[in-house]
This record gives sequence, C-alpha cells and structure tokens, in this order.
Amino acid sequence: MKIEDIKEKINEILPKNAGVSKIEVEGPEIAIYTTSPEAFFNNEDFVSTVAHTLKKKINIRTDKTLLEDPSTAKDKIMKLVPEDAQIKDISFNPSFSEVVIEAIKPGLVIGKGGETSKKIISETGWVPNIIRAPTSNSEILRGIRHHLSKNSHERKQILKEIAERIYKDPSENSSEWVRIVALGGFQEVGRSCLLLETPETKIMIDCGVNVAGQKKSAYPMLDILHFPLTELDAVIISHAHMDHSGFLPYLFRVGYRGPVYSTEATRDLMTLLQFDYIDVFSKEQKECPYSEKDVKEMLKYCIPRGYREVTDIAPDIRLTFTNAAHILGSASVHLHIGDGAHNLVYSGDIKYGFVRLFDNIDLNYPRIETLILESTYGGKADIQPNRNFAEQRLVEIINETIEAGGNILIPVFAVGRGQEIMLCLENFYKTKRIDTKCYIDGMTAEASAIHTAYPEYLREQVRRRILQNDSPFSSPIFEVVKSEDRDKLLQSKGNIFLASSGMLTGGPSLEYFKKMAEDPRNTMIFVGYQSEGSLGRKIQKGTSEIPMTVEGGKTRSLKVNMRIETVDGFSGHSDRLQLIEYIKRLRPKPRRLIIDHGNKIKSMSLAQITQGKFGIRTNVPQNLDALRLK
Ligand code: ZN
Repeated sequence: MKIEDIKEKINEILPKNAGVSKIEVEGPEIAIYTTSPEAFFNNEDFVSTVAHTLKKKINIRTDKTLLEDPSTAKDKIMKLVPEDAQIKDISFNPSFSEVVIEAIKPGLVIGKGGETSKKIISETGWVPNIIRAPTSNSEILRGIRHHLSKNSHERKQILKEIAERIYKDPSENSSEWVRIVALGGFQEVGRSCLLLETPETKIMIDCGVNVAGQKKSAYPMLDILHFPLTELDAVIISHAHMDHSGFLPYLFRVGYRGPVYSTEATRDLMTLLQFDYIDVFSKEQKECPYSEKDVKEMLKYCIPRGYREVTDIAPDIRLTFTNAAHILGSASVHLHIGDGAHNLVYSGDIKYGFVRLFDNIDLNYPRIETLILESTYGGKADIQPNRNFAEQRLVEIINETIEAGGNILIPVFAVGRGQEIMLCLENFYKTKRIDTKCYIDGMTAEASAIHTAYPEYLREQVRRRILQNDSPFSSPIFEVVKSEDRDKLLQSKGNIFLASSGMLTGGPSLEYFKKMAEDPRNTMIFVGYQSEGSLGRKIQKGTSEIPMTVEGGKTRSLKVNMRIETVDGFSGHSDRLQLIEYIKRLRPKPRRLIIDHGNKIKSMSLAQITQGKFGIRTNVPQNLDALRLK
C-alpha cells in the first residue's frame, strides 16, 4: 500500500468529529494528529478499527495547537501523577507531541483504564510516552534516552524517509527469487552476518565482530558485496552480543543511513557493549573501526519492536521477532517474504530448556520454509549436565574454595551469563547454601540495571520481584566494585568476584586473573562459552604458564597455580540434545535447514542428524557462499 492510499483509507474510516488534522507515516508506524483527543477516548474502536484495517501500529498524537508550554505542563503532570509512581525524568518531544515520562512504577502514570494518561492529554495537550526507570542507576540508559529525546526532530525526519522506502510499490518480479549470502559466522562462531536479497530488497541480518579473532577474521566480509552498503534497505539485529551486533556502527561510519530493527532491550544493551568495545581499543592504543559518534548516529536509526509484533520493513518483507530465551531481548527473526513466497526463520542464539531469567523459547510460527539454526554446541560431545546438577556443583566449588582460604573468580559475559549466575548466587544465598559476599565488577552491574528497566522480557518470578521492588540484582549478597578497591578486596578471603569479559579477552576479569592466578587457594570457574583462540580456552585446556603484560608494561610469565574448574549447564546456548529437541518441537516443521554459528565439525555433525533422522534437506555453508531459497 502506498502512503497516499494509507492516508485516504484513514480519512475514510474516521468520522469528522475525530478532528484529524494531519496523518504521518513514521517508519512502520502511523501517526494520526487530532484537535480532539477526547473523541478518541470516547470511541476506543477508532484506533482499533484503523489498526485492524491497515495492520499497522497507530499512534494518536495531539495537534500542535493544543500543546501547553512545557514547564506548565510539567507542573500539571507532577500534580496529576501520584507520588508513589516515583517519576525520575520528564522530557518533551514537540516533533511527536509527546512527553516522555520515566517512572519506577509506570502503571501509576497510566492509571486505571488509562485514566491518568488521559487526564495528562486533556489538561496539557501532550501525549505521554511512559517508560520504566531502572531500579538501580544506569548511566548508559539515561544517556541513550536523552540522546533520543534531544534528536527527536531529526528522528522524525528519518522515520518519514524510511516510510518512503517501506511503502514504495513492489516491482513486478519482486517475488521471483530469494537468496542469502553468508558474510560471517558460518562454520565458525563470531562475526555473524548475512545478507538476504530479493529482486526488490536487500536486508542484512546481524553484523557482528569476532572479539577473539585476528584482524583479518574479526569482521564480516562486507567487501565482497556487489553494491554499496548505502543501498541496504534495513538491518536486523537478533541480540546484543558483540558477535551479532558489534560491527553495526561501522555501517554508519561508511554511510549507511537506514533502519535498524531490534528489540528495545537489544538496542540498549548493544550500545553498552559497543561503547565498551571502543574503550578496549583505546586502552590498548589501537584504532577501533568506529567511534562513539557512529554509535550515536546508529541510535537515531533504531526502530525497536517487541516480540510477536508484525512489522512491514520493505515492500515485500514482513518481520516478526520471537523470544529466543538467550539473553535479555534476544530474538529469533521470522521473515515473511514476497507475500508468502517464502518464510524464513533465523534462530539467532537460542536456549531450549530451563533458565532462571527468561520464559521458554517460542516454538510456533505461521509458516517456515527455511530455518537458519545456530550450532554452537551441536557437536557429538556437546551434552550439558542438567541444571540442578550444575548448580549443586557450583555451590560445592565455592564452599571448598572458601574453606581452603581462597577467593573465587567467575568470568562472565556482562550481558547474559552475568545475570543468570547472579540469580543463582542470590538463590544459594537466600536458601543458605552459601554465606559469602559477591563483588560485581565491570559492565555486569550496568547490564543488570538495564534488565530492571525491561521486566516484561523476564520470567514471571523475576519480573514480579522487580515490580515489587525486591529485585534479585539488588540483593545484599551483591556489591559493585570500583576498580581502585580491587586490591584491598583481594587481600580479604572468601569472596566471589563476578567480572567481565567472559573469555578473559580483556576487562576486569583479566585483571583479577593476573592477581589471583598464582595463589593455589584461589579458584576460577568457567560457566560460559570459551571460543577458539581466547585466553579462557587456553587456560581451560590446561596451559600452566602465560606471558603477561604487567604493570609498567613489562612482560613476565604468569604461573597458573589456582584451581581451574569448568561447570557446564549454565550456557545460554542449547546443547546438542536441546537443538535436536528444538527442531523436533518447532511448528510447522521447516522444509530446509541451514546451519551456522558453530565450528565446521559441530555444524556438520548436527547436519548429519537433521538430514538423516529428520529427513530435512540441510546445508552447512561457508562464509561467502550464496544460497538460493526460492
Ligand atoms: Zn549470543
């Protein structure tokens, strides 16, 4: 449907008394401006009829003439909203006629049946956009929200331009073929990236870096593309981990200015990780492929979508995210291509099986012709112990170390394993299975705060606790460490240190390791994936001496005397049996399978099963392969 037709349709549906003064198409959404917001309060089916007819998200906005002066409006809002809502911030975006209200209890800003929100609109003219404040402070979240607010005028222009591309008429041959090109993360883990192409549209799915990779294998192979990156229609990011989102700002560095679709939590977490990536480069005095400026530019183009929200992202492509249960906001990507000509599911990283943080993974789709599936733990030997066993083992190792008079280091990914392990430790502490203090270092604390801003992504028990102001992340067992306090804390014994990075590729975990490695009373526990080439993998394999740069820039050999343990079973990835179970339970059954995100042996071994046991045609492409799907 063309933009003109959309506008005409809305004018047809809505009566004169709806007071429609302007209709704008903002990216995939539609904004209707009205001089009579009350008409919409009194006729709630106005919005639902339009949304249903056009199958689009509809935003009702007030006409500019109704907008009260911001400072007066702010006073009125403070009076209308009960104090208990704990408003943390109010900002005004005139371009969207919207007032962004950030509160600890958003429900109270909305009021029963939307009562309070409606009053805000009637009395100030501004339409509230109510967002949840994190229960503990997050610099990065505040920074992102301010940045978006400050640039709302420009964002509006961007959304209008994006809409022009989404609603152009598809060409006649648009559903003739569909193909993918493997650009990274095939027969390997790291730098996930693929291009999906139709005669009409070019879409990139994920754009990652391999943080443990050498320079030439660290980034996706974008230079083989037969068109400039500025011609991409959209980029979709499945989740925030750097091997899926870490190279995205580079696209903006080289001139891409199109939409980035992800969940809201992914947008915020990937920004956190990208800033950190830049930071690591500057500490090592190396040149990062992009700068903070590129990340900020990227943010303006982010269009967040929730799970199960169906969105037109190109004339011939409709996107839906579903829960992948891997990290906060992680999604599998369903693409409905060419009016049903082909349906593709890109799994992203998935966890089939119980985790404390998230609801179970989504298994139902309207249609699937092709499934692109990760295979991180797809190998024959990749069977993880059950969760209870893993948790019991963790408790034992912690208590044994404390008895021996040592400290415990658990290197974690700041996003994902960090929070899952925190929930475990909090549970052990509550049930008196451990009695110690756990120090959180690096970005893990910041990432946990972001979790509390998006409880809707979390498993019910955790969500409820956050909403009742009993966040497990704020338990007395946890304390956030400042880097200057590290040495003092290391001198006392019986502590747990939870620090990123998860593979000892840099960050505080590496600093702790250097200071703890030589004392045999200490223990390091690996709970997450250690990729080929990382220091974590080397130590896990038994390397006992490591050349290290120590303070003063000198190199010396570090003896690994500390106890090294790996406890499997906490992974955010499915093990081999879970991957097989996932394929079995997925509805409908895919006709074709493409395996990525695993080393060659594991991917091939998984393919043998799916091809042999399930009879699904399976490919294990290499980077640079192109596969025709239709
Ligand atoms: Zn991941």
